[in-house]
Amino acid sequence: MKNISILGSTGSIGVSTLEIISAHPERFRVIALTAGKNLELLVRQIKQFSPQIAVVASTEDVPRLKDLCSGQDVTILGGVEGLIAAATADETEMVVAAIVGAAGLVPTAAAIRARKDIALANKETLVTAGHLFMDLVAEFGVRLFPVDSEHSAIFQSIEGHRNEDIKKIILTASGGPFLNTPTSKLSTVTVRDALNHPNWNMGKKITIDSASMMNKGLEVIEARWLFNTPVDKIQVNIHPQSIIHSMVEYVDGCVIAQLGTPDMKAPIAYALAYPERITTGVKPLDLTTFSGLTFLNPDHDKFRCLNLAYRAITSGESMPAVMNAANEIAVAEFLGGHIGFIQIAETIERTMDAHTAHNLQSIDEVLKADLWGRETAREICKEMVH
Ligand code: NAD
Ligand code: MG
Repeated sequence: MKNISILGSTGSIGVSTLEIISAHPERFRVIALTAGKNLELLVRQIKQFSPQIAVVASTEDVPRLKDLCSGQDVTILGGVEGLIAAATADETEMVVAAIVGAAGLVPTAAAIRARKDIALANKETLVTAGHLFMDLVAEFGVRLFPVDSEHSAIFQSIEGHRNEDIKKIILTASGGPFLNTPTSKLSTVTVRDALNHPNWNMGKKITIDSASMMNKGLEVIEARWLFNTPVDKIQVNIHPQSIIHSMVEYVDGCVIAQLGTPDMKAPIAYALAYPERITTGVKPLDLTTFSGLTFLNPDHDKFRCLNLAYRAITSGESMPAVMNAANEIAVAEFLGGHIGFIQIAETIERTMDAHTAHNLQSIDEVLKADLWGRETAREICKEMVH
């Protein structure tokens, strides 16, 4: 029996995680659940999974959640303190980090310090503070399992091999909803167009990141830290069918890939049950139903965010944290209808141009850089005429 806390249980990854857990009650037990604003769903999850702790992001929502859970034997907490309590609960053995954005940073760091293994969906954690996180993982001797499908694929393709034998990591990308949209038309695409992802059903922020390909940029940085590989050895191939989830090329010319129907339940289950494989209900892959699997290089002029991410990680230090913060603000402003789609990249680029990278030696310093990036990006968005 593995005891699990889920940070972000009401999100897309959180819900899929609970589906896996409910299909294997003999294997997993839920210790803590946390949510942002969706109290109704959280209450349903509390009733179904009977956690010891339930947390809501805003302390103002605690009384209402307590009301909704009266008669239930559960400790209700709120705010960052609550998230930390969920992440560090005594009985918890593994924390599923599935909060979106830099908000995942503090509770995930607390979980590592409390010696919990981590199933990491929250890629922004490694983007903003990769070196500090990997140091913490080593210092506290915990295991960090990737949930992101590409990184799970690499993790599965790398097992049993030596790091020095890797020639290249090839991250695959679907290309998102605008793969075939001419660059000149990107200035008029709507929020609805951008949310219409062809292959994956995900939270809004990552769906917009997929449309801009910033998601792939964040994943390049995530891979750099997870697999201790320099970015010049990490390549992106567009693969519109999302069947090959990523590949590793070795010095002998062999390439090992992991394939499957695109469904996050597969990488989530692998992270939860590692090294075992458990049933997931994912549709079996029948390659004969595909007329072809195709691959192409990304168009860097069209998807400018991808280059911005390479630029940020090459510059290093505080630059990726600032880039990530600017992206979070730009995506929120785009979703709010205040800036256009191509202004996402512009906001990030201008924020990065205004920043001089400096060394980050603690999570507090990362949070300061993150705040600077948010404030600067907000100012830049205000100046933009949509
Ligand atoms: P989502 O928006 O569907 O869910 C996010 C969860 O975090 C929700 O439970 C929400 O209530 C909670 N949350 C949001 N802001 C919070 C805050 N400030 N404090 C506390 N809780 C907060 O997002 P998602 O699609 O499930 O993605 C979660 C993470 O996983 C992201 O980092 C994303 O990049 C990554 N990821 C997602 C997918 C996917 O298929 N959805 C795939 C790979 C990686
Ligand atoms: Mg991914």
